[in-house]
Parts: sequence; structure tokens; C-alpha cells
Amino acid sequence: MIKGRVYIISGPSGSGKDTVMKKVFEREPNLAFSISSITRAMRPGEVEGEKYNFISRERFEEMIANDELLEHNVFVGNYYGTPKAPVLKCIENGQDMLIEVDVNGAVQIREKMPEVISIFVLPPSLEVLKKRLTGRGTDAQEVIDKRLNEALREIACAKDYDYIVVNDDLEQAVNDFVSILKIDKFKTDRNIELINKILNK
Ligand code: 5GP
Repeated sequence: MIKGRVYIISGPSGSGKDTVMKKVFEREPNLAFSISSITRAMRPGEVEGEKYNFISRERFEEMIANDELLEHNVFVGNYYGTPKAPVLKCIENGQDMLIEVDVNGAVQIREKMPEVISIFVLPPSLEVLKKRLTGRGTDAQEVIDKRLNEALREIACAKDYDYIVVNDDLEQAVNDFVSILKIDKFKTDRNIELINKILNK
């Protein structure tokens, strides 16, 4: 069986990464999503087991100690991590999987799985990013500045990714993302088993 591919998606707050991702899954129903384990409190509207498993710090630290995580990071005082077993099972079964991680998580996954394909979602410009982060205009300037600095720190890591998707027009960004998934199917390393099969190896 040909192994599935792991794709990483990252992008700062204000890049519209979540919306792009949601639409990509509508277009690619066979693409699996890695549900992260996290220790922050559930926000209104979030559903246990949909995007995240909400777990205790004790359980998270146990997962670290037992080497159950592919990567993990602390973000604004909470743990975020990718459970290893579901990812390995998925790709062994020949299914592709998308993992959403921050830039630190991406570094850890690349070290363990050099064959991953990483995609960074960028806002089209600094002006648009600022506008998106300002949102409804209810946040204090200090909070907005903090988010902007964090976003710029993440964008500085975009050059380490395999592909960049600019989210200016949403439909275009989704098309671009899906094109990357499609073109990747033709990469030689994804077709070695087919070549060997034809050669009867
Ligand atoms: P939020 O709390 O807003 O849902 O997510 C905060 C940050 O954590 C976002 O940058 C998001 O991409 C990142 N994140 C989500 N899941 C994971 C994960 O499993 N591992 C890591 N390292 N970061 C994650």
C-alpha cells in the first residue's frame, strides 16, 4: 500500500488560515485532519473532538513523558500537541493527513518526518493584516500590537515552508491550496512503489 502524505498548515492569526482549511476539507473529503490535544479552556462554539481534544495539564504532561506526541508547544500559557498514533495509523493506511501547527510545531515535525510538505498561509500585505487584527475595533491597542508582533514573528518563519498560499481572495487561496495537494501526487517519492510494482520488484 502506498503511504499517505502528511501536510502541515501554519499561518498567523489574521491570515484566515482556519477559513481556508475549512473550505479545503469541503473540496478534499478524503483528506484527514489531525485533532490536537490542548489544555486551554474551550471557547464558546467549540466542540470536543472536532478540532481539539480538551485535556488536563496532568494528562498532557503524561503524554509528553510517554512520548505520545509528534510535537508540542506552549502557546499563551497552554499546551498544544499533535498525538502521534493517529498520524502514523492514517498514513500507514494510505490516507493523507493535514496537521495544523504553529511555527515551532512545524520545526519539530520536519525533524521527525523530513518528507512532510509544509504550507504557510500569508495575508496579502501588512496593511491587510493590521486591518484583520484590529477586527471589530473593540480590542485595546496594546492587545492588537501584541497580536501583530506575534504574527510578524511567525511570518518571519514562512521562508522555511515548502509552499506559500496568499489569502487575499478566499476562493483563490483555496484553489491554490488544493492545487498544491494535487501536484504533490505527481512527486516521484510518492510513486516509487508504483515504479517498483511495474518493474515487479
Ligand atoms: P487557538 O488557541 O487560537 O485555537 O490556537 C493557537 C495557536 O496554536 C494557533 O497558531 C494554532 O495554529 C496553533 N495550534 C493548533 N493546534 C496545534 C498543535 O497541535 N500543535 C501546535 N504546536 N500548535 C497548534
